[in-house]
Amino acid sequence: MTNRRDVVVFHDERMQAHQPDSNVDFLPGRLDKRIREILAGLNVQWKYPEHPGRLTAIMDRLRLEPVPGVRFEPGKAATRKQLARVHTTSFLEHIFALRDKNAWLDVDTTAVSPGSVKAAEVAAGTSIAAVEAVMEGRADSAFAMVRPPGHHAEPARARGFCLFNNLAVAAAHAQAELGCRRVLILDWDVHHGNGTQNIFWADPDVMFIDIHRASPFYPGSGVLQETGAGLGEGTTVNVPLPAGTGDSVYMKAMREIVAPAADYFKPDLILVSSGFDAHAYDLAMNVSYEGFAAMTGIVQQLADRHCGGRLVFILEGGYNLESLSRGAHSVLRVLAGEQPPEPSVCGLEEIEAAIAYHREAFIALDPDH
Ligand SMILES: [Zn+2]
Repeated sequence: MTNRRDVVVFHDERMQAHQPDSNVDFLPGRLDKRIREILAGLNVQWKYPEHPGRLTAIMDRLRLEPVPGVRFEPGKAATRKQLARVHTTSFLEHIFALRDKNAWLDVDTTAVSPGSVKAAEVAAGTSIAAVEAVMEGRADSAFAMVRPPGHHAEPARARGFCLFNNLAVAAAHAQAELGCRRVLILDWDVHHGNGTQNIFWADPDVMFIDIHRASPFYPGSGVLQETGAGLGEGTTVNVPLPAGTGDSVYMKAMREIVAPAADYFKPDLILVSSGFDAHAYDLAMNVSYEGFAAMTGIVQQLADRHCGGRLVFILEGGYNLESLSRGAHSVLRVLAGEQPPEPSVCGLEEIEAAIAYHREAFIALDPDH
């Protein structure tokens, strides 16, 4: 059943100029030396995992298998003022000074290439454009297909392949310019969104809910007891889960934690930090395409109930190109009005058939034997 909804996918080729290549010379210094030592200790040739092929895979799939109701718009670059709502002045100056250079930013191998600073400005600005489209009523929902991703970026530190915190910049813009008071953020990327949590840690008007693989998995934060502080005490909600967790547990988290939290918080806008690295192909969790679709259905119902359906997805991680592109496609189909499936448990149907098939075989012919 389809109840057509209008969805805009935001995409901008300028983000593809972010392509760190560790084979070229980087700015020399202590960080370069340290990371080169780490990379030299690996048994395999290291390649930057967050590469332009990720967005190409998503856009190619949407061209080959168009989703009715989805249209496309270009992005735009964020201004320094927009970035400065969530990042410190000194951090922005340090990043801007790296224009046209190759440099490491963090020991976790986050790096920039000559086009990266512009790409990061466009990733943040494109996230703003997606929020504007929804807040201005030009679309029921929007999906910003952006890179570099954002949710590990802290106020004064780039981390985990993230330069600027795209979603946080978009949330702060919605509050400052678009008349939006309360923002609910759901982060279902498999890694904890330490940067987003940090930025809104003491903010009572932003509720941050994060379902992720538990520490010590990267970045190591996001334990249950991290619930915010000060005025924001209680508006940070962490759901750490073990490796291999699948659809049924994610659905339980959506129904029994995310839904009641949203009903309590009553947001004006819902943003989703949408990584697809919880899919089995990225080897950390076991969420299926049906799982991503079903979770989208729940978050869409929450947006309908509380904020006139205003819902914006912003891309985070996902490194296997097949599951990344198919995951994004599954989300978009539901945003465009397709009825989400109820995820099945893999093999359940088959084992029930097998039980029925073999049942007769174990009935003893002679009951005394
Ligand atoms: Zn991730």
